[in-house]
Amino acid sequence: MTTLVLDHASRVYDAAVPVIALDRASINILQGDFVAIEGPSGAGKSTLLNILALLDVPTTGTYLINGVDTAGMREKELATLRCETFGFVFQSFHLLPHRTALDNVMIGLLYHNVDVAEAMARAQQALEFVGLGERAGVPAGSLSGGERQRVAIARAVCAGNPVLLADEPTGNLDSASSTAIMDILESLNASGTTVVVVTHDPAVAARAGRRVRVVDGRLSETGVATVSSADAKRATAAPFARAESVALPVQEKQTQAARRRSRRLPLVARRAMLRDVLLSLTTEPGRTARLVAVVVLSIMLALSTMGIAQTAKYQVSAAFDATRNRRVAIAVDTGALDSTSSMLALAVTDPEAMTRIRAIPGVQDAMGITTLSEIPAATSAYAPTTDARLFGISTVPDSSTLLEVTATPVGFSQLEDDQVLIGSTAASRLGIGPLEASPTLWVAGRPYEIAGVVTSAGMRPELTDGIVLTQARARDIGEVESTGVEIQVRAGAAGQVARVAAVAWSPEYADAVTTDAPPDPSSLRESIEPSVNTVLLTLTAVATVVGVAVLSNAMTSAVQARTGELALRRAMGARPRNLRRLVSLESLLIGITGGMIGAVGSVVALLIVAITQQWQPVIDLRMLPLGIVLGIANGLLSSLWAAHRAGRIQPAQALR
Ligand code: ADP
Ligand code: MG
Repeated sequence: MTTLVLDHASRVYDAAVPVIALDRASINILQGDFVAIEGPSGAGKSTLLNILALLDVPTTGTYLINGVDTAGMREKELATLRCETFGFVFQSFHLLPHRTALDNVMIGLLYHNVDVAEAMARAQQALEFVGLGERAGVPAGSLSGGERQRVAIARAVCAGNPVLLADEPTGNLDSASSTAIMDILESLNASGTTVVVVTHDPAVAARAGRRVRVVDGRLSETGVATVSSADAKRATAAPFARAESVALPVQEKQTQAARRRSRRLPLVARRAMLRDVLLSLTTEPGRTARLVAVVVLSIMLALSTMGIAQTAKYQVSAAFDATRNRRVAIAVDTGALDSTSSMLALAVTDPEAMTRIRAIPGVQDAMGITTLSEIPAATSAYAPTTDARLFGISTVPDSSTLLEVTATPVGFSQLEDDQVLIGSTAASRLGIGPLEASPTLWVAGRPYEIAGVVTSAGMRPELTDGIVLTQARARDIGEVESTGVEIQVRAGAAGQVARVAAVAWSPEYADAVTTDAPPDPSSLRESIEPSVNTVLLTLTAVATVVGVAVLSNAMTSAVQARTGELALRRAMGARPRNLRRLVSLESLLIGITGGMIGAVGSVVALLIVAITQQWQPVIDLRMLPLGIVLGIANGLLSSLWAAHRAGRIQPAQALR
């Protein structure tokens, strides 16, 4: 039982010249009335209908529904009242083309707290009522115009609301389809539903009980009820009686708890809305895929920078461990020579000294090196001489990180007293010929066999520009400047070896010996890590912010593109909050999906980078949940603006 009373209602649109679309209109509509609204284009018919449907509010005047003034109602109450009272049919159908006829009709029940199974059954029943029971599974986009309008009517009536408002429902249809639509409206009216229909078509209007003419916003009633006998019809049940679960909002005072409970959606409605969101994401896979792709890219960017930075960091310390970290040197320099010359002589000649060093746990290889003064050298007794520094070594080490030698045909396993190694740079300076020719080198008036060319000497690159002899021979022909031992240790053993190496080498003069070992790796890492982490976090944050900005943009344009659909949902009873929730939930699901794909994608990207760079990949499995969390955050943050926009859509404007 619904009575609608419009009393001196005007609607003025703000414009450069304000438009008075409705001018002091008054009309009473009783339950069971069949009202046709006629009038030329631009007369104000749609404005009137929108005000009746609570999609718009009059600028002045009053609108009472069942005697209650609607002027003081808040948006939430208006939405509930709209949802419980009106069904709305538009000239241009406003169906979701990708969804089936049945799903379209179900949107009419989405905001009625009806569970999915019941909504399906009632939607099917409504489709059968409009003669489309067989077409339930067909996407709305593939239906004919007449069929689409029948689906729209089924959507408007499936909730069993007492009033049906139709704005030029036959405006886009041929006459046969128009007749079918009018038959449906008549049969609805016959079962007690109030029908208000805007039409241009006199044939259509002739079938209504009351005819109201609108000209320049003014209403005048031309025909008086001939068919309508409202009281007689009221008793008949509407074809879609309201379900028990559909209840008007509780007007009386609520307790705090009850209010909180009523604010929470019933489970059935949540399930229906989740289904709706899933449908809206899956029926337009292209749109969804584009949005997911945005999240995937942002998450991949964030996680791969993080992962690659971590791998690179590991790579740096691995490289560090492989060279610098595995070298300990002990030395006595020139300044200490006078006071320790006897020790030096001992250290240089004492074969036991090197044996003791090699015996230290963690030592892999060791080579004693004595640096001497420069001395003239030449390729033959008569050739001009060139100065080169002289080095004496204790043994040729196995380890190429200490000394890398390319042997000449003369060859060697350990250097003999009449053999030399020549540094690669020195060799070119001295003009030493091809190695195949077994060249000799004259040093201090004596020939030596060249046994090999030193191509690299680890931490002592000066050896590549010198002449290397046995320590005993070098000491005889040159002046000792300093002496020491290069030691290669196992990764991590440097500190421990450094502590005892000096004593092992020369127990007596250990105090005069300086030991050079790499800094403690853990403290080094501690000094590197904060800066690496800052860079890493900055990159990740930038990637996330960019992702949120891009998705936010995309979500907002998606909302804009769907203004019609969202406004339609408002006409079907959705509150702004429902629309905000719809957009946020869609965005959240897009975020989760994008987060998962992005997390897996970045692991793959990381593997590819590591494999192509031949790095040891450092894959932190926490990246997977982190990706999902980032995706969720991205989805929720991005939806804020879009959801806000969705909530602000004005249905009357958007559905024109
Ligand atoms: P009808 O449905 O009878 O064709 P409308 O109710 O749509 O007419 O419009 C009535 C008048 O109000 C028209 O002159 C129209 O241009 C004007 N109008 C409608 N909506 C707006 C609006 N949002 N802003 C300004 N003028 C509007
Ligand atoms: Mg109109």
